[in-house]
Amino acid sequence: MSRRSELLTFVEGVKGFMPTNEGLALHEYTRAHGEKHSGGTWLEVGAWCGKSAVFIGSAAEETGAVLYSLDHHHGSEENQAGWEHFDPLLVDAVDGRLNTLPTWQRTIADAKLEATVIGLVGPSIVVAKHFAQPLDVLFIDGGHGKEVAWADYEAWTPKIVIGGLLLIHDVFPNPEDGGRPPYEIYLAALESGKFEEIGDEGSLRVLRRVS
Ligand code: SAH
Ligand code: MG
Repeated sequence: MSRRSELLTFVEGVKGFMPTNEGLALHEYTRAHGEKHSGGTWLEVGAWCGKSAVFIGSAAEETGAVLYSLDHHHGSEENQAGWEHFDPLLVDAVDGRLNTLPTWQRTIADAKLEATVIGLVGPSIVVAKHFAQPLDVLFIDGGHGKEVAWADYEAWTPKIVIGGLLLIHDVFPNPEDGGRPPYEIYLAALESGKFEEIGDEGSLRVLRRVS
């Protein structure tokens, strides 16, 4: 799935909250990075049904990288029944909980990315504690609550190699557009002096680790 038009047609059929322009930016920035540093280890926090994993994973496939796509697959707060982003079709009939794993798996299989996009199923922080491999690309799009977003930031960003990319989704400088935590961790990354911004698209911010 290397051609842009093919990618665009495919992702239209995938459930998710990633606008096409932002998904394409994810694809372009990660592919450009992969072309310079091929064979990297990439990871996304927040897989949902695999939409962002296809945008990034197709770039990983083209450049010989592997993308770990991490999620406990039970959704965030806003995905639960009664909330804004609830989808009753994603409820597991056995236990009544949200379960996006079968849909994620179907997406990755249909995209022919099973050898490139590797699922990690579990709580982000538990996985992070036992994940020793340095990261060439990290995409943070997991829980957006204060505690979860900060925990992701603290657990995962130190694993990025110098020269590696940090991409953060749902960064809204204006509080009227969305929640604060992704914006706050983006500011923290810049203020740490370890990252510089290299691009943005919609609510996506792209940073590079510089020290
Ligand atoms: N990146 C996806 C959307 C992710 S939505 C896309 O653009 O297609 C956010 C996801 O984060 C949800 O699927 C939710 O289950 C997951 N999530 C939230 N908190 C988590 C945690 N602590 N550990 C693992 N996954 C988490
Ligand atoms: Mg998002």
